[in-house]
Amino acid sequence: MLGSLSTTVNNTVDGPTVVNPLDSERAATDLWTRAIHRLKGRLSRHTFQTYFEPIKPISLEGDELTLAHSSRFMIDWVRDNLLDVLLQDLEAQLGRTCAVKFVVRERAPGEEVAEAPPVPESTPPATSPPPSEAPPGSRQLQINPKYTFDSFVVGPSNQFAVAACTAVANAPGKAYNPLFLYGGVGLGKTHLVHAVGNHALRQNPNCHVVYLSSESFTNDLIHALEQHRMPEFRARYREKCDILLLDDIQFLSNKKQTMEEFFHTFNALHEGGKQIFVTSDKLPTEIEGFEERLRSRFQWGLIADIQPPEVETRVAILKKKAATDHIALPDDVALFLGTHIRSNVRELEGSLIRLAAFASLTGAALTLELAQDVLKNILVVRGDKPDVETIIKVVAEAMQVKPQDIKGDRRQQNIARARQVAMFLTRKITGLSYPVIGEKFGGKDHSTVINAEQRIEQLTGEEPDLSKTVQSLLRRLNS
Ligand code: ADP
Ligand code: MG
Repeated sequence: MLGSLSTTVNNTVDGPTVVNPLDSERAATDLWTRAIHRLKGRLSRHTFQTYFEPIKPISLEGDELTLAHSSRFMIDWVRDNLLDVLLQDLEAQLGRTCAVKFVVRERAPGEEVAEAPPVPESTPPATSPPPSEAPPGSRQLQINPKYTFDSFVVGPSNQFAVAACTAVANAPGKAYNPLFLYGGVGLGKTHLVHAVGNHALRQNPNCHVVYLSSESFTNDLIHALEQHRMPEFRARYREKCDILLLDDIQFLSNKKQTMEEFFHTFNALHEGGKQIFVTSDKLPTEIEGFEERLRSRFQWGLIADIQPPEVETRVAILKKKAATDHIALPDDVALFLGTHIRSNVRELEGSLIRLAAFASLTGAALTLELAQDVLKNILVVRGDKPDVETIIKVVAEAMQVKPQDIKGDRRQQNIARARQVAMFLTRKITGLSYPVIGEKFGGKDHSTVINAEQRIEQLTGEEPDLSKTVQSLLRRLNS
């Protein structure tokens, strides 16, 4: 069994850090040096170099380790995908639970090159505006060379979005302008935004691509206003820009002044035939506090949506990701992850990375059992699977009894069998404890659940019909 990671995590992203005493900095450096030494051999070279190497330890105060990175994007990625692994290592070193806080650290002049993530040879160079164009305090993000059309798996849920993005990347300002892409969290919007940027740059390396989150746009504007540098701000987004990629535009809602500025930016770019591509988690009409005139601007172009991927696409995404990261992912594990983690590709990827890191840290083979064990808690917490009521309902229907009979005490054979099957599947699917399952089945004792599990395990080995029923129920409940 692997230890659970019940660590409290303070992972806020703040502004400039406070000055720390030397010893707290030294303690942080020591701890961090040991941690990365251990992690280096266990993560793929690319993951390590891109996400871990540029991190700088700032301070260790009490149980809180503060780490800095110059890119908020990278911080989010590390937090989403590798925090568990990191915390496990830190806790092993410290012998106690700890918290990790990330801060965005401005780059020192001349540091730009040293900290840029490595660029795979097959992809175009990442661009960010030259340092002189980025005002101090700008949180402008780089285009991530990893996020290309090639690395994006296309399925029915996203093919329309991909087609629209491809058209825009091939003919910026000409195909659909603006392109408005909307969809839930972690479904690939940011990936496609970067893919458009990468593709456009590959076609025309002189093209000025400006990519940033709406939050950064707001921060830049505030900064420009404070410093009386609006002409530079306007030049950056209007004149020196051929493609404006503005991610998560819903953050502009209720920010009157930013919206006003964006409105004028939009008009200037549109009139100049420059491409505007924005993403949002909602439709323009659904974003509260969004100005009508901006909403109507978005109707000028194309509004494309991106839906949660189907199970086949989820499995394909996992396989692609595993191949890229050199993770040997068995088919049954891919299917297990793909069927259980449904709503969000980021979580899907995160679970694969976490699993691979656990396997590597513990020296265990990446098997279905390991996946079930490592992800048990996550899957229960997310509730990303049928709950007990659903399982009871589905089993009752398939085995032609009433749900209340499954929860009741009648011992008639067909009812008792359906109850046992439902308990067996509940245990298998939810991983809940025997007493909790007993409770949910009308207050049965935990021993009843254990007996049911053993009985069904035994019977499925002896009765092919029952085995088929159980297998098909399991598939149905898991998809
Ligand atoms: P969003 O911006 O919609 O919240 P992201 O673009 O950040 O989502 O996607 C989350 C993660 O999932 C990224 O690492 C991205 O590469 C990956 N991803 C999402 N959809 C796909 C897909 N269809 N194929 C490959 N990777 C995907
Ligand atoms: Mg995003």
